[in-house]
Amino acid sequence: MLRTVIAATAVLGLGVGCAPESSAPVKVSALVLNSNGEYAPQEVELKTISDIVGLNGSVADFRGGARIVFDSQDQDLATARTPEAIAAALLKEEGYDVSASYIDQGGVLWPADFHTWNMVTAYYNLERAFDYFQNVGNVPAADFKKPVTTYYFPEFVIADVDKDPLLDNALYFSLMESFMVLPFDKLQRAPLAINAGIIAHEYSHRVFNLKAYGGSPIPEALSFWSSSAGPSPGANILKAFDEGLADYHAYGSTCRSTKGCDAKFFSTSFHGETYGQITTNRDLSNTSRCMTSALREQLRVMNLGEFSGAGKEYEVGTLLASALYQAGENTGQREVLIRSIVAAYNDEDPKKPGLFQLAKNNLSDQTKFTLAVAAGAIITHITDLRLKEAVCNELMDHLQIPREQLVGTDPNMCPASANGGTQCTLLPPEE
Ligand SMILES: [Zn+2]
Repeated sequence: MLRTVIAATAVLGLGVGCAPESSAPVKVSALVLNSNGEYAPQEVELKTISDIVGLNGSVADFRGGARIVFDSQDQDLATARTPEAIAAALLKEEGYDVSASYIDQGGVLWPADFHTWNMVTAYYNLERAFDYFQNVGNVPAADFKKPVTTYYFPEFVIADVDKDPLLDNALYFSLMESFMVLPFDKLQRAPLAINAGIIAHEYSHRVFNLKAYGGSPIPEALSFWSSSAGPSPGANILKAFDEGLADYHAYGSTCRSTKGCDAKFFSTSFHGETYGQITTNRDLSNTSRCMTSALREQLRVMNLGEFSGAGKEYEVGTLLASALYQAGENTGQREVLIRSIVAAYNDEDPKKPGLFQLAKNNLSDQTKFTLAVAAGAIITHITDLRLKEAVCNELMDHLQIPREQLVGTDPNMCPASANGGTQCTLLPPEE
């Protein structure tokens, strides 16, 4: 028999106004993609939650009703000098703790309304992504720092683009070190927060920020390299790696799900005439993608604003992600590759510097932070020779990085047997 209760008072036995004691793990029902490709209620355990009503735990802290405005004309924002001041200038209304409600069904909490389903599933997906980076990516728990504030259905306005709040998105907003789950309008199929792959993609941006951007809300190399109107090849590469690796990790995280590895994880949310293209364009299992002369030129000459305005970071990112996908799958070493990729984000060892160190070392000349240099950070973190050979081959092939550029002066970069792949037609050398 079903019994509607407010979990905090009935299930956890708390008085009004009391702070909940540590209550994890909590058994809840969340919407999980099953082996038939349908989202269905599934009993899961939240292992990191401390307040099941306010959806607050060591991974995330949900806030409702916030208003966040990014406006280049905003004086508060223009004069803000510290990360805290910037976050405060952006946050026009703080919002409040969310309040989830449940039905207790034999010790399992069933969400009692749509928003609770959406929020509990989103928390569960964030927890799975955290678990993926901790256990597959080998990121120590302490490195994740504090729980990530997750703004649930906020009004998020980017004033320079549109005076109306944005809809139909889930994002990691590094300026405020927070996640946002925006209200949906046109995407009525699977809300983005319910799509575990999409949440893992967003969580990957947080890990990339913590490691490859040194945890800075305004990453130094990215902002310095793109601060003038001229070409910003280094910033374009950073952004493309951030996006491509987020898709690869999202894919990697699906391999630990009920449904199993799913390179088309976008399809349950992005579907049909308008949005289906996103699924097709970013399907990592498409092995026939190749760098083109035009894209290579855009990477070299565009400013970051123009480059990402045209979505080019996803085009380059997908080339990287599908090359890694093939190397990982063909050698059967997906998880080893995932660990190497995460290790490549930040490494002080001068023999195998991480992306953060390589960007810093080339801060004064971003033309030296090339695709070959950035890809090299991943390769130097792979120890297994067969995997190294496969990654070298796929990157030379799909990203069209000539062997001599990729290897540079490091004789151990790629085995002699790695001479590129056979999928892509060799592009003429860059001028
Ligand atoms: Zn992204």
